[in-house]
Amino acid sequence: AAEEGFDLEDVADDLAAAGHGPLPVLAVVGRPNVGKSTLVNRIIGRREAVVEDRPGVTRDRVSYEANWNGRRFKIVDTGGWEQDVLGIDASVAAQAEFAIEAADAVVFVVDSTVGATDTDEAVVKLLRRAGKPVVLAANKVDGPSGEADAAALWNLGLGEPFPVSSLHGRGTGDLLDAIMEALPEAPELTFGNTVGGPRRIALIGRPNVGKSSLLNKVANEDRVVVNEMAGTTRDPVDELIELGGITWKFIDTAGIRRRVHLTEGADYYASLRTAAALEKAEVAVILIDASETLAEQDTRIISMAVEAGRAVVIAYNKWDLLDEERRYYLEREIERDLVQVQWAPRVNVSARTGRHMEKLVPAVEAALAGWETRVPTGRLNAFLGELVAAHPHPIRGGKQPRILFGTQAGTKPPRFVLFASGFLEAGYRRFIERRLREEFGFEGTPIQVSVRVRE
Ligand code: GDP
Ligand code: GDP
Repeated sequence: AAEEGFDLEDVADDLAAAGHGPLPVLAVVGRPNVGKSTLVNRIIGRREAVVEDRPGVTRDRVSYEANWNGRRFKIVDTGGWEQDVLGIDASVAAQAEFAIEAADAVVFVVDSTVGATDTDEAVVKLLRRAGKPVVLAANKVDGPSGEADAAALWNLGLGEPFPVSSLHGRGTGDLLDAIMEALPEAPELTFGNTVGGPRRIALIGRPNVGKSSLLNKVANEDRVVVNEMAGTTRDPVDELIELGGITWKFIDTAGIRRRVHLTEGADYYASLRTAAALEKAEVAVILIDASETLAEQDTRIISMAVEAGRAVVIAYNKWDLLDEERRYYLEREIERDLVQVQWAPRVNVSARTGRHMEKLVPAVEAALAGWETRVPTGRLNAFLGELVAAHPHPIRGGKQPRILFGTQAGTKPPRFVLFASGFLEAGYRRFIERRLREEFGFEGTPIQVSVRVRE
């Protein structure tokens, strides 16, 4: 296969992974400049290339897929988050807090050439409180002479410090072995949350759109089943709520109910919390205040959900406040500003009056169905064959790139890999994506189309 220029091994990985539940999540926390990004890059290795060639996915994503000895997991790099909003110390603590909340295990990176600082000690306190498994990486041990510095980090009280050089790779194998021991095999299987178990919803939106009102409405009317999952201490912030006869898991309801009043940096905290909730959820219900002009923060939250690859439902709340004029402008806004999610089901609700609450569940179900759609390879290629025959790629430099074959490499969200004889222009990729949607639906889900070129 190698001589054909396709990385079939990658595709096989993707296929093997398809249909499995969500992966365990590893958070990488630590002060700026201790080497978090370097470590993450080393761990994800060649997988990064796959992330890059997805159109519409920005390079500064905080979450990547990784693989060690055949075990797959997600790795969340907190280093990409803004660091100067609240001053370094506060922001590091906030990053750690939110990343830890979303994670199944944590790698705490310390710069062993600097030693433990006050900020490191503060993070240790957070880690203790969170009670998640922690692996301590003593970074920048580039040679044997650094081992003593690493050993000094026993003082942090987090157990054995693993001396590593993220830059050169030294010690990272042992570190990864320790990480694998800390990560649960399949976290979502631990309490019956398998296929048919509760689906995970993140209720997100900027402050004051009505998240807590909506949550209270649905929880009161349909009765909260349990506040904390029986027999486990995991995820005490998530709630099981019965809606439309189905039990759903609402992610980070504590964060919604506990209204954080912060003047400075409130947006920053809100955005970290949103990222953490999305990390754990399958579907995002994005609340927008219909009575107000769409804000930049609204579109940013939508982008976060799309880039996280979650199923999406748009809920326009406060519908009771709408008059004719606002309704007119709202229609224009939807056409103009929500093009990136024109595939998402929309519901117009009022948490105050209870209007159209019953439409929420069907919309969420439709989005999840789109998210899990699998197109058989035969059907996909029949479709691609006809499409390419009718609409060939424009000729460039005397050559005409052709799509040779396509396969759906995964679901949740649907991911397609097209093998082509040359580079496909962005416009043509978008065309293909549009036609895929027309043909196969994919309501409520982002889809990803990547192209592998045969040289
Ligand atoms: P982050 O802010 O924690 O994500 O840190 P970066 O990954 O950006 O690394 C900060 C600096 O430390 C960069 O200049 C890296 O090249 C350097 N660095 C990272 N890991 C190592 C290491 O293992 N050894 C040495 N000598 N330098 C490293
Ligand atoms: P959150 O910050 O997103 O959790 O928003 P809240 O649920 O705290 O709501 C913010 C404000 O909007 C409160 O004063 C709510 O009473 C009000 N609100 C929420 N939903 C509705 C609605 O559907 N209609 C109206 N008129 N007001 C609402």
